[in-house]
Amino acid sequence: MSESETSSGKESNKNAGKIRCDACPVMCYIADGKSGACDRYANSEGQLVRTDPHRVLASTIESGGELVKFVEGNGSGALLREEECFITAVGAGTTYPDYKPAPFIVSQKIDGIDMVTVVTEGIYSYCGVKVKIDTDRHIGPEQSLVRAKGEAIGHVTTGEYGSQMLSLGGVQHLTGGSKKEGRTTCDSLLQLCNCEPVELTIDNGASLLVQAGKPPVVDGVTEEKMRVGCGSATIGMFASQWQGLVDEVVVVDDHITGVVSEHQAGKVIGWQPTGIKVLGRKSTPGRYFQVAEPGTGWGGTDITDPLAILGDFNPKHAKPGSSLLMVSTTGEQYGYYELDDNLKPCKMDLPDALQQTVERIAENCEPALCSVLFVGGAGGSLRAGVTENPVMLTRSVRNMLTRVTCGGAPVYVWPGGGITLMVDVTRLPRNSFGYVPTPALVAPVEFTMRLQDYEALGGHLKHVTPVTDALKGQLGGQNDHILSGSEIEPASNAWPTKSTLYAWSDS
Ligand code: SF4
Repeated sequence: MSESETSSGKESNKNAGKIRCDACPVMCYIADGKSGACDRYANSEGQLVRTDPHRVLASTIESGGELVKFVEGNGSGALLREEECFITAVGAGTTYPDYKPAPFIVSQKIDGIDMVTVVTEGIYSYCGVKVKIDTDRHIGPEQSLVRAKGEAIGHVTTGEYGSQMLSLGGVQHLTGGSKKEGRTTCDSLLQLCNCEPVELTIDNGASLLVQAGKPPVVDGVTEEKMRVGCGSATIGMFASQWQGLVDEVVVVDDHITGVVSEHQAGKVIGWQPTGIKVLGRKSTPGRYFQVAEPGTGWGGTDITDPLAILGDFNPKHAKPGSSLLMVSTTGEQYGYYELDDNLKPCKMDLPDALQQTVERIAENCEPALCSVLFVGGAGGSLRAGVTENPVMLTRSVRNMLTRVTCGGAPVYVWPGGGITLMVDVTRLPRNSFGYVPTPALVAPVEFTMRLQDYEALGGHLKHVTPVTDALKGQLGGQNDHILSGSEIEPASNAWPTKSTLYAWSDS
């Protein structure tokens, strides 16, 4: 129902009867019954209201403080006791500009201690996501641009152990390019953060379908397994299980291909030389780099015939009839060979005993998933909604007196200056993220601390409201529709007010 005029239009009579939303720099004029450009705010009979329900987490004493569910309701908090609930920022609303106090600053007594939670939906121009894609397959060279709908929204970054990594978003793509690039970046980040699927393409690389918590799809093929380890690690893990069953094993891997007869793991159990010759750059005994080009074949290489990485066998050690197992790091590809009279490997059926070892590799692979971490900086202005002296909040977070959460989910706060936080999007309530057309992402953030610590950091004490009042919808602010939402499954997030999460619990 979006129908608004933004501040870029001239104020005129056509805005008569409309109200102006001041929750972001766009400053929409909104007609009665309509919502603003982001659909997050609406005009309800002349009142500016937040359109999404405000989410409150509920725990039970029996659960030991674990998050168990969201509360259904419509403004009546009568069923909740104050120590059993946590008011999140999801649906809480934003104040803009942030010299104003945050929309909700609530107090509650937890185990006899007065606690305060400051709640706001932050507007992040400086934000992005890091995406971990569990696959060996080559998705594109590092630094390649990642595109959505043809627009550059990020790049391929340093790969991790068994995973390819993307860095998407950031202020450069949100604001530093064309309008279309900014909007597409914002749209893609929003979908990824709300656990929706997004199609991506990589320059000189693969096409991807990425969705938090789901298997990646690389060039139309759904990835099922994450490799058990690199080729060298796989040799280390399974050398003793292969001994006596086969004369040689090569684990093909784009990064480190392992050869059991040469590898230290084979040497220490008395594995004899086989005269094998692996093409590629030898790192240390039994460990080879660059045996092939990266690709979507065996072990993340471009090969489909593993014999392509072998040179001639050395007759000094090789014997006709010697056996060879070649296998990938997921166990999905394998081949069994025996040397003929000319010391050439000939493909044979895999013996049952070796079949079990290949299955063991596959069994030890974890399901391949996409992981999406939101990374954003809770900047100076957002912190001003908490305190008149924003650096005090940063220090309080550093000193573990203030705990930062996003929709109740635990975050990692980067060392160094500012409050740059990182959170697994699957741990937030569904659809916790929003956007504004500046463009920027909107993400919930809560700061929880003792009342005395809030006082010490110069908090907006006059705006502290007992949580019981908040639960009854008595804040009288933008949103008195504060309870509901059951659309996420129970999560294992630590309860945000648990005393052991704070430095003072040790004293
Ligand atoms: S874009 Fe949304 S938050 Fe910004 S002014 Fe318009 S309705 Fe308000």
